[in-house]
Amino acid sequence: MQSFTYHCPTEIIFGRGAEDSVPAKLRAAGAHRVLILHGRGSAERSGLLSRIEMQLTSAGLAFLVIGGVQPNPRVAFVREAIREGLAADVNFVLAIGGGSVIDSAKAVAHGIANPDVDIWDIWTKKAVLTRTLPVASVLTIPAAGSETSDSAVLTNEDTGQKLGLNAPLNRPVFAFMNPTLAFTLPREQIAAGASDIMMHTMERFFTDVKEPNVFTDRIAIDLLRTVMESVRRLLVSRKDYDAMSELMYCGSISHSDLTGLGRGKDFSVHKLSHPLSARYDATHGRALTALWGSWARFAYPYDPARFAQFAADLFGIDAGTDEERARAGIRHMEEFFTSIGMPTSIGGLGIGTLSARTIEQLADDATQEDRIRIGVFHPLTRADAIAIYTAANH
Ligand code: NAP
Ligand code: FE
Repeated sequence: MQSFTYHCPTEIIFGRGAEDSVPAKLRAAGAHRVLILHGRGSAERSGLLSRIEMQLTSAGLAFLVIGGVQPNPRVAFVREAIREGLAADVNFVLAIGGGSVIDSAKAVAHGIANPDVDIWDIWTKKAVLTRTLPVASVLTIPAAGSETSDSAVLTNEDTGQKLGLNAPLNRPVFAFMNPTLAFTLPREQIAAGASDIMMHTMERFFTDVKEPNVFTDRIAIDLLRTVMESVRRLLVSRKDYDAMSELMYCGSISHSDLTGLGRGKDFSVHKLSHPLSARYDATHGRALTALWGSWARFAYPYDPARFAQFAADLFGIDAGTDEERARAGIRHMEEFFTSIGMPTSIGGLGIGTLSARTIEQLADDATQEDRIRIGVFHPLTRADAIAIYTAANH
């Protein structure tokens, strides 16, 4: 097994009514004035936002509310929230929502703690992140895993980039996870979220580390199996508490790094998907499944045995050569995505097929014009990225 350091300090408060402990937990963590961030209406419509406002008021905690975070959150919105948060002298940021709101909350916390630095300079590593404000979330969608992850993703509309920032200071202090808060999700969001959860585990399963990792591999495969079972149940009945609970917990474990444990993260499908989301505002989980099969067919020849293990452990595919099992496993995974209504091609994103010039631009964005290699399983060049986008372009 590889050597590793694993530190996931986020306290998870899980179950029905988890959000009721927000005031006590925040107060104990030293909050005196809280910046609440939320999205474009779901937290208002469900009554969750007003409930938390009432709880904070009763507890004597001051707060400022900023709504309007959009999916694929924008840096311009974050800059404005930083200005308002600084003016109101907040010292704690509470996200109510999913990955987009939580990632924005992380960025706002960094920006408030570093008022002399532009937040995009932190994102592009021109400025070093050394301090932040504490962040917590009331999670309303099992998907990104940002509630426990060390990562956050922002889109810069001026440069057309969607970029992730990985840093220990991105780990939130608390995650309040009440599965019933996700009962209002549309089916497409449940399926997109489940797909993102699966990707966070698969991007760690297909790694460059060759030492045996029996327990970590088993966690990964069981997590994938649990997500597949749960999403199937939820697409029949969105208010299945047990299935939503499994999905929500898997979402956090998948991206907290427990399924990777120090192995190199590949994340090439994520990095190929970001230019698509930046350019077409494609839903994150949908952009991922649109590319995964094409990436996998490109990548498996570099380690067919690993893909064969994946096929055997997850789908019970035991017959044939490594190559045959690898291809069968990829086919099964794509069939699963199709069965839950997720696209397996760029055409499935509803943006038509792309011109050769557009594909070159996507590859330039993903590889910074061939200056960087993407991923670790088989580090991808610009030419590799073009081959994968082209294979998915139908
Ligand atoms: P999201 O973008 O936060 O939310 C998607 C949609 O779901 C929004 O329209 C939101 O509506 C709606 N929604 C959320 N909760 C709802 C509920 N309970 N009922 C009804 N509608 C609800 O989704 P996400 O998939 O969690 O986040 C995606 C973002 O996270 C992407 O930008 C992705 O790149 C990023 N990401 C981050 C990480 C990380 O570790 N930081 C990892 C993977 C992906 P409202 O706006 O109305 O609330
Ligand atoms: Fe993701």
